Amino acid sequence: MMMSHISMPQIAEDKTISSRHEFLPYGRQWIDEEDIDAVISVLRSDWITQGPLVQRFEQAVAEQCGALYGVAMANGTAALHAACVAAGIGDGDQVITTPLSFVASANCVLYCGGQPIFADVCTDALTIDVTEIEKRLTPKTKAIIAVDFSGHPCELDEIRAFAQKHNLIVIEDAAHSLGAFYKGKPVGGLSDMTVLSFHPVKHITTGEGGMVLTNNPEFAERLERFRTHGITRQRESFQEVDQGPWYYEMLDLGHNSRITDFQCALGLSQLNKLNMFVESRRELARCYQESLEELQEIQLPIELPTVRSSYHLFPIRLQLQQLKKTRREIFQELQDCGLGVNVHYIPIPWHPFYQKLGYQKKQWPVAEAAYEELISLPIWPAMSKNDVDRVIQSVKKVVGHSKK
Ligand SMILES: *Cc1c(COP(=O)(O)O)cnc(C)c1O
Repeated sequence: MMMSHISMPQIAEDKTISSRHEFLPYGRQWIDEEDIDAVISVLRSDWITQGPLVQRFEQAVAEQCGALYGVAMANGTAALHAACVAAGIGDGDQVITTPLSFVASANCVLYCGGQPIFADVCTDALTIDVTEIEKRLTPKTKAIIAVDFSGHPCELDEIRAFAQKHNLIVIEDAAHSLGAFYKGKPVGGLSDMTVLSFHPVKHITTGEGGMVLTNNPEFAERLERFRTHGITRQRESFQEVDQGPWYYEMLDLGHNSRITDFQCALGLSQLNKLNMFVESRRELARCYQESLEELQEIQLPIELPTVRSSYHLFPIRLQLQQLKKTRREIFQELQDCGLGVNVHYIPIPWHPFYQKLGYQKKQWPVAEAAYEELISLPIWPAMSKNDVDRVIQSVKKVVGHSKK
């Protein structure tokens, strides 16, 4: 879709923009002419990867999010992996995370030889519950990966206080929450490391892409090394004698997790629109709240007074005891209305791979009950008024027909 102005109304009135897409996905990118021009100009330049824009993008994101350092990566998953490595996670270390997330939030621990330990979520925001973290704490616990589910930041102060008391590192998986605020502060500088994803369904996109934000220079250095084979060209870091201008050293086993310059050009151009993107999502969420509040058979996502969510998702919960249809049937009917509904998430330890590792179901009653009831409605900044109305009318119709 093409839109040449960033100062559009918060919900586009222009129905030609997106309503001609019969099917409304749950999320999608906004790419305009400025974005396209930014990428093209890099393609015409000397550098298509490892040029000046990577650092500019890192600095711009870090500044906007209130962090000192940003280290851009090939994708959010690589960023999570890098963060675990920088945190020193290794064989046998335990890392506590939420079962209600995308698998990448836990897989990164396994990549390092560590053991993900799942702690149940709070009933309100469905983010990890500190009292549940405490129950899972052992002498092997090294870190917490807290996921800002749907764009709603976790109880970061409580998590940080708990982590400090027990000498744990907090990695915040903020793939959903770029542009969100916690107690008046932007997400990004509030945890030891904060991980972003720039996948097209996320707040800003670089195609594939991710970043780790941190205020800790040592973490930043380890993250940079991880991104490029564990290699350093910094003399101060050399362990042997500098053998000449060509000289570099590989200090640890890193990966190639680099992002390209043309992706960073897109990222910088997208970042200019972040505030507008988040405002649009919040406005869409407000429309949903206002129009769907009356339905007793669904529970809408909450926003705690301490936070400002950036609404990556708008997950509703079916009150199944008041409905005569199953979640599956209702999901199907919404899909039949052309809505790209989705379910976020199948609990991570329920996946066959995790089951084979020995994880048992029924250990996380809040997250597992939520999973049975959740349906994510479409929410993305270029949705038109007409699109939102269509979603609202479809939900009202389908839920209305399904009442007991
Ligand atoms: C998208 C996402 C990731 C992974 O990001 P990619 O850029 O797709 O690798 C990790 N965690 C969560 C919660 C996500 O939503």
